[in-house]
Amino acid sequence: MTTIADRISIAQSQIAQAAQNCSRNSEEVTLLAVSKTKPISDIIAAYEAGQRCFGENYVQEGEEKVIALKQDYADIVWHFIGPLQSNKSRIVAEHFDWMHTVSREKIAKRLNEQRPATKAPLQICIQVNISNEDTKSGLQASEINALANAISQLPNLTLRGLMAIPTATDDINVQKAEFTKLQALYHQLQNDYPTVDTLSMGMSNDLAVAIAHGSTMVRIGTAIFGSRK
Ligand SMILES: *Cc1c(COP(=O)(O)O)cnc(C)c1O
Repeated sequence: MTTIADRISIAQSQIAQAAQNCSRNSEEVTLLAVSKTKPISDIIAAYEAGQRCFGENYVQEGEEKVIALKQDYADIVWHFIGPLQSNKSRIVAEHFDWMHTVSREKIAKRLNEQRPATKAPLQICIQVNISNEDTKSGLQASEINALANAISQLPNLTLRGLMAIPTATDDINVQKAEFTKLQALYHQLQNDYPTVDTLSMGMSNDLAVAIAHGSTMVRIGTAIFGSRK
């Protein structure tokens, strides 16, 4: 039986291999362990295996976990990666370190106002709708710049980059086309904003292609914690 520690180590070697294959340093790629729906004991097991960055999708659940672990596991870095309704923004502003799914100025402004003064700025990725599916959230490419400009002027937020959930497909050509587009948008944003250093893309089944296209953060849930049923 494999343990959470085993599976983290497998994910880390997949990242290292993918980085090596495209002549990148594997330290440029952060493993974000997506622990949504999983119990706190699983997060602790991952922590004890050296994992520090965790992603949560649901505000209430995320808040409970952050509060439960903040004393004894103070160096966990919490990433909010789910959809956020504006009436729940305070929970993210008060408890998380990163927020990956900003796609509206209204939400950015609320997060900025609600971020406690005692905390470092909230680290922000803009979510891009790279697959152009109507059902997916995120901005069109042409809308990124206006939001980036707004975020860059909010003192309690730091613009770090882009996040996307590509089309779920095993077709490597579709994966490559979407990641190529994202990488270009990311480079453009980096040129305009010096704080930008994060491209959050790639999950279990497309990690190698994502890393070959410049991903700096891969989000992996099931392959570490098992299926969510
Ligand atoms: C759930 C989730 C993941 C992880 O998905 P798995 O299939 O469990 O690896 C990654 N990114 C986002 C935005 C998610 O919601």
